[in-house]
Amino acid sequence: MAISTINPTTAEKLKVFTPLTSAEIDKKLALADSTFKQYRKTSFAQRSAWLNRAAEILEKNKLEYARIMTTEMGKPIKSAIAEVQKCALVCRYYAEKAPKFLADVSVATDASESFVSYHPLGVILAVMPWNFPFWQVFRFAAPALMAGNVGILKHASNVPQCALALEDIIQQAGFPPGAFQTLLIGAEQVKAVIEDDRVKAATLTGSEPAGASLASAAGKQIKKTVLELGGSDPFIVLESADLESAVATAVTARMLNNGQSCIAAKRFILAEAIADEFTEELITKFQALKVGDPMSEDTDIGPLATSAILTDLDQQVQTSVQAGAKILIGGKPLSDRPGNFYPPTILTDIPLDSPTAKEEFFGPVALLFRVKNIDEAIELANDIPFGLGASAWTTNPQERDRLIKDIEAGAVFINGLVKSDPRLPFGGIKRSGYGRELSIQGIHEFVNIKTVWIK
Ligand code: NAP
Repeated sequence: MAISTINPTTAEKLKVFTPLTSAEIDKKLALADSTFKQYRKTSFAQRSAWLNRAAEILEKNKLEYARIMTTEMGKPIKSAIAEVQKCALVCRYYAEKAPKFLADVSVATDASESFVSYHPLGVILAVMPWNFPFWQVFRFAAPALMAGNVGILKHASNVPQCALALEDIIQQAGFPPGAFQTLLIGAEQVKAVIEDDRVKAATLTGSEPAGASLASAAGKQIKKTVLELGGSDPFIVLESADLESAVATAVTARMLNNGQSCIAAKRFILAEAIADEFTEELITKFQALKVGDPMSEDTDIGPLATSAILTDLDQQVQTSVQAGAKILIGGKPLSDRPGNFYPPTILTDIPLDSPTAKEEFFGPVALLFRVKNIDEAIELANDIPFGLGASAWTTNPQERDRLIKDIEAGAVFINGLVKSDPRLPFGGIKRSGYGRELSIQGIHEFVNIKTVWIK
């Protein structure tokens, strides 16, 4: 894919970037490596001051950054503004908490003194997706920089201006020039970067093929990776649930970011007793959503980020229908306008053995399933290769405990929307990836956990 800005609302190609040459990449890696040798010696107080400054820059220019995101990948402007604010939050969170998370931990042994101490690894590569172009990067960069690592970013090829803005923010905040650099490179250039001796570890957020490719290249070099991959999260509604609240949350859970979120609720698993009422309400609420120009404050759903995503989603819906699924609303791209617009869509009666029943639908399409009881709900929720998040709705304490214990996912949210929060670890199991971001667990991924024993 060419590195370029193509406005998904208008299909206009606005800017094309030339990928870095091997010599240019080498120069940036040399700078990252030499910067690390000095940067690792800086104090927490200094790093916190820089990160807090980054938070101020983000907040001061939130509209400008939000507009870059919306122009490049089409998220509604109000969500883009909220994303910039969330980046400021994660900067402040780690600026405050990192010294505590990385403080020595004393352990009583046969030594006169023994403890665990945390040390940075060096240059860390982050390969990031376009769907939350600022948030995904800051949730990597804030803990990595606080831990004394330096970062290099390979962002998705359709958000180059976001990638450059991110580097600029961290520079403006005062971090040394090599502490965080953007590499404008294509996916095929990533392998050489992870194989480079100066790069010590990598994190990738994106699709399964991309994760597998990076992790195998890193594995050959015995380098650690963290993978945050796709999902097809269940949203389970049992008979005792507060239905009004469940339906209202279901709309946000499916439609956030034009339906292109890894932790979006994608499979709605409904107890038979409430399924009809839930479905009717969901149809009404989906139909009330405003699809249109994402720069407009009152738009709920903008275009999909690229024309390829639109084609793929359309194909998945058609395949489902051929396999026997029924379309309740929506079901085909909006052809009355330019850009990659797809309407809110609901599919039901999806045969469980159909090819798409276990796939991730990355767009505003809800898949509805009916179950007789909690056993069937849990079985269906788990019958999927992914395990990122799950939202489950019940007011029954026994049901709640079973859902928490038996759902195979990195997160279970009871009576709420699955969301990321700097204070809680975030990540998946199964083919949704491994490792964790955010919270104390996130900052411990890219450090040397050093055992110290003194006689
Ligand atoms: P993608 O194609 O995998 O792209 C993600 C990043 O990986 C981009 O920077 C891409 O670069 C790069 N890439 C692609 N193929 C690669 C390869 N073979 N080697 C190295 N890098 C490679 O992902 P996407 O389809 O755009 O994004 C959507 C996916 O990301 C969904 O599955 C979604 O669920 C997942 N996601 C997961 C999380 C999470 O936290 N778990 C969060 C957000 C999104 P190019 O753009 O140059 O191809």
